[in-house]
Amino acid sequence: MRGLVFNAVGKPLEVASLPDPEPAEGELVIRVSRCGVCGTDLHATSGHGMTLPAGSQLGHEYGGEVVAIGKGVEGWRIGDHLSALPVVGCGHCEGCRTGIDILCNNQWQGYGGGLAEYAKVSARGATRLPQTVSLVDSALVEPLAVGCRAVRLANPEKDARVLIIGPGPIGLSVLFWLRRRGVENVVLLASSGRRRDLAAGMGGTRFVVESDGAKEDIQTILGGAPDVVFEAAGVPGVFGRAVDLVKPQGLIMGLGFCMQPDPIVPAMNLMKDVTMRWSIIYTREDYAACADALAAEGYLARAMVTETVGLDAAPAAFEQFRKGIGGGGKLLVDPWI
Ligand SMILES: [Zn+2]
Ligand SMILES: [Zn+2]
Repeated sequence: MRGLVFNAVGKPLEVASLPDPEPAEGELVIRVSRCGVCGTDLHATSGHGMTLPAGSQLGHEYGGEVVAIGKGVEGWRIGDHLSALPVVGCGHCEGCRTGIDILCNNQWQGYGGGLAEYAKVSARGATRLPQTVSLVDSALVEPLAVGCRAVRLANPEKDARVLIIGPGPIGLSVLFWLRRRGVENVVLLASSGRRRDLAAGMGGTRFVVESDGAKEDIQTILGGAPDVVFEAAGVPGVFGRAVDLVKPQGLIMGLGFCMQPDPIVPAMNLMKDVTMRWSIIYTREDYAACADALAAEGYLARAMVTETVGLDAAPAAFEQFRKGIGGGGKLLVDPWI
């Protein structure tokens, strides 16, 4: 089969001929329908830390149709549609009992080979997609699940004032779940106007570009300082800004993947009595909730996709994405184009 391989920092991904995956015990093989590219893929290939070994496959936001079933797998049939968890824990330790597989105390197993024609997935980490969900949307389950858990943890009231910093796919996924909860008083704060239309496509029409007057603009639109700030920009300086913008006793929810130190002034946090917390990925229940949400409002989620390319065009599109060129939404790869 064909798939994308990372060879070295500074080199584009390579379209390689790889052995067809065979399912081991407890595994399934799927024909990949779509796989998303995300910021963590850029981090993993940038040399800024947590860089993948040479020869690694990529792709952790994907789904498809079951084409092979390994030993000991029950409840799955050829032709079933699924979205795969990219990380699967041991299933019985204290970490796994949180429901978040990446917190496994033992070695979790990675299934990050979605940027290929076929991929192996763990049957324990597979979420069945209703037949009403198009396989085209199967790659959106993972990024949507990130927003699902963050909104669930923040638990805003329907009339809450909410600010999302960073209207990329994760910020937009937060917007998607806020709207599903009926939280309408939401502003998106961006460093530029590049994603204005993208956000509007998902109902995020209250869009403020960062400036000296942004704080006042946000408060005017929301009718006060935000109760909750979702940080989905992942750049240094953003937490200090979030403390400046949030209301006293407000909540700041960190989602951005920033590998650099981001200094905060503790006295400012203290003086506002703020709560700051982070949310790492999702639980399996969040994954299942996404499958249902896609069945109900797939068209809204699909609005975050700005580009779909085949494997041959993917390395160049990946580098464009790294440079911040393009629509600024989700880049999907369809390995069969
Ligand atoms: Zn991702
Ligand atoms: Zn575990």
